[in-house]
This record gives sequence, structure tokens and C-alpha cells, in this order.
Amino acid sequence: MDYKSPKTIFALMKDKLPTEEDKALISKAFYFSKRAHEGQLRASGEPYFGHVVETAKNLARYGMDAMTISAGLLHDTIEDGKAKEAEVKKEFGKEIYFLVSGVTKLGKLKYSGRERHVESLRKFFVAVAEDFRVVMIKLADRLHNLQTLNYVKPEKQKRIALESLEVYAPLAHRLGIAKLKGEIEDAAFPYVYPKEFKEVTKLLEEKKETKEKIVKKVEKEIVRKLQSENIQVLKTSSRVKHKYSLWRKLQRHHMDIDKIYDILALRVIVPTIEDCYRALGIVHSMWKPFPERLKDYIALPKLNGYQSLHTTIFNGEGALIEVQIRTMEMHGLAEYGIASHFAYKEFINKNGKKKPTQDGKYAWIKQFQTIKNDNEKADAFMKDLKMDFFNDRIFIFTPKGDVLDLPADSSPIDFAYSIHTDIGDHCSGAIVNGKMVPLSKKLQNGDIVDIITKESSKPTSKWLDYVKTAIAKKHIKSKVGDNGFLASLWGRFRNQ
Ligand code: MN
Repeated sequence: MDYKSPKTIFALMKDKLPTEEDKALISKAFYFSKRAHEGQLRASGEPYFGHVVETAKNLARYGMDAMTISAGLLHDTIEDGKAKEAEVKKEFGKEIYFLVSGVTKLGKLKYSGRERHVESLRKFFVAVAEDFRVVMIKLADRLHNLQTLNYVKPEKQKRIALESLEVYAPLAHRLGIAKLKGEIEDAAFPYVYPKEFKEVTKLLEEKKETKEKIVKKVEKEIVRKLQSENIQVLKTSSRVKHKYSLWRKLQRHHMDIDKIYDILALRVIVPTIEDCYRALGIVHSMWKPFPERLKDYIALPKLNGYQSLHTTIFNGEGALIEVQIRTMEMHGLAEYGIASHFAYKEFINKNGKKKPTQDGKYAWIKQFQTIKNDNEKADAFMKDLKMDFFNDRIFIFTPKGDVLDLPADSSPIDFAYSIHTDIGDHCSGAIVNGKMVPLSKKLQNGDIVDIITKESSKPTSKWLDYVKTAIAKKHIKSKVGDNGFLASLWGRFRNQ
């Protein structure tokens, strides 16, 4: 590898071409880091500096700005290199220093087993809430470490790879960066499950070629037909399913690869949402759809913001093909998630500093801010949150048609607290799909829920048995607490 100049990094900044100023900043970080890591070698015997350049290249690929890329180049200069904190601060300013020290802090604490994963997740969430770019650098760093894992001792290999599957990949998923999630999982997969990795690789190789032929044919016909119906096709692409997610899916289908219809999915990118639905209709007029597999993620986006129409069609020759229809903006979001928002939108905060936006779609991030700097409470909260994070989600509607997503088995109380703390605190009853129900009722996907509030209503400790969300538990506990009885006495006393 040639690490003589930062040109390879510039070449990857294709979404947003670097300005002269950007180039100057990245170059400065490049040579500063090169000096700081001089003489240092990686386990592979390669110069250490190569690792930070590869990290920076990953950041450029994911559309990060010059400041984040520079911080990526500098991310190991203090901890592993020869640079001093004061030096980095003086040369690159407070903001880059903040990013570098943020990455360093994320890497420090070590726990064992499950506890460690919970703690790592918590640290990540706090970091995301503080500044998403810190986590992005950490993910880019981890990806390169995984790609060079074969040089590391076997017992360390497995630990790093497992942690990547349990902490880093779910985090990338939650941030909607599907591509990065897939890359991390596939790099970690062979170290954690070597036998299964080989098996999946073999299965995939056997199927890929025939599948590719079929998809090519379908692709040609769709493009021709859409054009004849005056729908502009901006782009088509087919993606092979990532190996790790294929394996997860195979496990649910008794390892029968013929049951997996999206090994190779065809993506069709059209200009507008209206075009998406029209294109879907046209595709269905050409081939019969497989009814259970029609998904409208445009009307009901996934929790991480993903939008697209998915349909699986019978191609007429005995094969099933998944077709995904979306706009260019949705496509960017699908691949880059929160990073695509970051790449396109910035806002100036109070201090006049540019910061990445945290769009409403990522409102859950704000929850983490409330647990910052409070380790004891955070632990319990984190466990609840981890449940939220990995459980199945259901979509619940307000009578006005707004959608809220909640963990499966949530109750009307969870719903009430997700709307507003006051509504939760004073919730006295619930109407689900027009019928009065007890507050212990388990909500179902698609329910329409109307909450009845009363000024005199208050949370009771019984509610804790009904709720699933961390946010509801937190508020109820703060009202009834461990001193629930005393608190309620005090409440009554005060209200007299
Ligand atoms: Mn590193």
C-alpha cells in the first residue's frame, strides 16, 4: 500500500468534493499522524500509519466531512503514537481534539462477558447522543481492525469479532448504516463461526451464478417496460445478500437456501414516491407477486428510517426474485443511514459551530442524553434499553394517524409515555380501536390508541408490571421509586 500522500483519501470523497480548505486540513492531519506513528508497526508487520489511513478512507467512503476524516487520521496519535494532547489541541483546534479524545475514551474501559457488551453499548449510545461523528470514527476503525484480524492472536481474534457482532454491528444497524453493518458482520463472521462461514460461502457460490442470470433478465424487462410507461429509471443495481445475514436467515429456514428469496435482490431507483408506486403496479402487471412478501416501507418506514417498496415476484420460470423500488434519497438513506443525513445537512448551533443534524427520525438518540453521567441509574436503564433495542417493534397509531414505534408487548402506558411524560403520568384509561381496555392490555401492531388522562391519576408500582419501554419505567420509578409507599403517602399529604 502506498501511504505517501493523502490523495487516496480525496479520491474517495465523491459525494462532496473536497474544497482546498478540506484538502489542506486533511493533509495537515495526514503528515502530523505520519510523524506521530513513525517507526511503529502493526501486528502484521506493516507500518502502523497504514491503519489510520485506512480508517480515514472508510470515513471518506461513508461521506464524512473533512473534520471527521482528519480526526480519523489522528485517532490513535495520542494513545498509541507519540503526540501529546496539548499538541493536537493546539494544531487542530478544540473540535477535532474533542473527536479524537472521544474515540480514545470509547476504547478504554474493559469489562468481561455480557456485562462488557452492555457497558460498551451504553458508552456508545452516550457518545452518539453527544456527537455521532465519534461513533462513526470508532466504527471505521473497527472495520479496518477486523479486516486485518488474521494477524492477531487467535483468542483475541474471537473476542474482537464477537464484540463486533454484538455491539458494533447492531449499532451500525440502529444508525441505519446498512452497508457498514454488513461489512462489519461479514468481516467478523469467519472468526466467530468458522464452520458455518464456510458452509454459507459454498451455498452462496452454488446459487449465485444462476440467480445472477435470472435477475439480469428481469432487470432488462423492467427497465424497458417502465421506460415505455414514461417512468424514468435513474439506476438499477443488484446486491448479493451479505453472508452473515444470509446465515441468520438460513437458520430460520432449516438451512434451505431455496427458501431465501432475496439472496440477490434487484433495486430500481426512480425519481419520485409516486413513481415508486406506479412502478410497483407495473411490475405486478408483468409478473405475479408473492402476496405475503409485499412490504410498504415508504408508508411505514423501519425504525432506523429505512424506506423502500419490497415485492417478491414469480418470474414465470419457477424462480422468485425480490424487487426493491425506491427514490434516490431513500437509496442514500438505506446505504448510509444517519451518515447520509450528516453528509447533506448541517446546522449552525448556538456557538456558531457546525454540528451534524439529528433528525426527528433519530429522536431515540435523545433518550440517551438523559442518562449521561449517572452510572448507577444508567446500568438499569441500559438493560431496559437493550431490550427495546433488539426486540421486535410494533407500530401504533394515534387517532390523528401519527405513528409511534414501540417494542412488542407494549401497553397503553408505554404509548402514553412515548407521546409525552405528562400524558403518561396522568394516564387513567385507554381506548384501543374504539374499545375501552385495561392499562395492562398488550398492544398489537396497527392498533389505534387514544389515551384518557385525569389530573388526579398517578403512576402506581403495578404499572411497572405492564410496561416494556425504558422511558416509561424510568418515569414510573421516579414517581413511585423504591419508596413507593412513602412517596404516595407524602403525595397524599401534600395534596391535602
Ligand atoms: Mn485504531
